[in-house]
Amino acid sequence: MGVLSGLQPERVFYYFEEICKIPHGSYDVKAISDYLMGVAASLHLEARQDEEYNVVIKKPAAPGYEKAPALMIQGHMDMVCVKNPDVVHDFKKDGLKLAIEDGWVHACGTTLGADDGVALAMGLAILEDDSLIHPALEVVFTTEEEVGMEGAIALDTSDLKAAYLLNLDSEAEGHFLAGCAGGVKVHSLLPVKAAEAEGVKMTLGISGLAGGHSGAEIDKGRGNANILLGRLLYELDKQAMYHVISVEGGEKDNAIPSDSRAVIVAAPEDADLIRETALAFGRTLANEFHTSDPGVRVEAVCGEAGSYEVMTTSSKGKMVFMLMEVPNGIQTMSADLPGLPESSLNLGVLRTDEEGVHMTWAVRSSVKSLKTLMSDKLQYMTELLGGEVTFSGDYPEWPFNPGSEICELCLEVYEAQTGKKGVVETIHAGVECGLLAEKMPGLDMVSMGPELLEIHTPRERMNIASMASTYALVLEVIKRLAERKA
Ligand SMILES: [Zn+2]
Repeated sequence: MGVLSGLQPERVFYYFEEICKIPHGSYDVKAISDYLMGVAASLHLEARQDEEYNVVIKKPAAPGYEKAPALMIQGHMDMVCVKNPDVVHDFKKDGLKLAIEDGWVHACGTTLGADDGVALAMGLAILEDDSLIHPALEVVFTTEEEVGMEGAIALDTSDLKAAYLLNLDSEAEGHFLAGCAGGVKVHSLLPVKAAEAEGVKMTLGISGLAGGHSGAEIDKGRGNANILLGRLLYELDKQAMYHVISVEGGEKDNAIPSDSRAVIVAAPEDADLIRETALAFGRTLANEFHTSDPGVRVEAVCGEAGSYEVMTTSSKGKMVFMLMEVPNGIQTMSADLPGLPESSLNLGVLRTDEEGVHMTWAVRSSVKSLKTLMSDKLQYMTELLGGEVTFSGDYPEWPFNPGSEICELCLEVYEAQTGKKGVVETIHAGVECGLLAEKMPGLDMVSMGPELLEIHTPRERMNIASMASTYALVLEVIKRLAERKA
């Protein structure tokens, strides 16, 4: 007897428990991929596995529904492996220890991998059920989604004919994902010329900002410590002469930086004025950000007097100009879905080294031309100031389609089954649907899934009742897609 035996829908929970017995963290997916191929073979279904261990399983339409356009059901097989520090668990060897509590399934002290094990479990349960009415099915399980969507990037879709895609990698029941942002990482290098300066060294620090994810939390009005550091340096310029040794802040391009610092050199007689200006700027920020970043602080600490290597006045001026003038934060909001960000950029990392001042942005938009516009602005400004730009990690958007038939159908069935109105959303971050949208133009897609909480943490859990209603919704959508065009 499994821990989940007796839960409904029975075969979905059966497969989910089987999946949990097989280690399947990112980059450790051969075993789970082989298991999926094994299930396909036992069901006598056509299947293929590629070099990235992606699995594609095809099932012909139910008799009489051959004319309906094919449907792709898709999710990722890799999971995020995180455990509580006091738990003994080897994600490479051990199966997950499942438990049921108050209507939720969780794993004991580890992530559950319901993100995205639910897609595998539902996909297999659908494939084995010969009583269902369905169009031709193409069930696609990808790898390494959690570490950069490498499986979906490598996936060959040339043999796939699906007109519709049901992605099962969302985790809020009743919320239907209908678009995502594309993105690119932009790196600017402003070369710096060095000079010598005498004076007292001072460290000016901005800290205590809330930070957060540069996609999901870009609409919270939070301060960006790197951008604010530029403003602080500009404020100081109004008051006193000073030189800059270095500026730095932030850790990752896709995190809003919560702290930053500048090391400067000033005449000893100006040190008090500079400190007061910095503290006054701190009070200004405390006022402006009292709701979004109540912990913001600015500090100024005096160091030793001496002779230091600093940026020339011209190099410093270009750097301060760029931090003051460069676009940052939300650039456009969606006109289709009020309240949802459409385009944004985040200066996540600021560094100084022998080459100069490095700045790294995460640029996002669900409209490709707006992503290009933001990249162009960064490139134009950087090059005009004598610097160089490089781009990396480009990934495609999934443009919102207000006429999506499959999204409309999900809303219709959801309301009929639950009496509640579903919510259509887009996400300001990349998902696999963006890659599939690019590879298969015209594919009509939606992403949904059962209620999961605190994914990517040892508190991850899956709601049992939500799994049942989500599965019922999926089956009805599949049936109506078959009947519509049959
Ligand atoms: Zn996922």
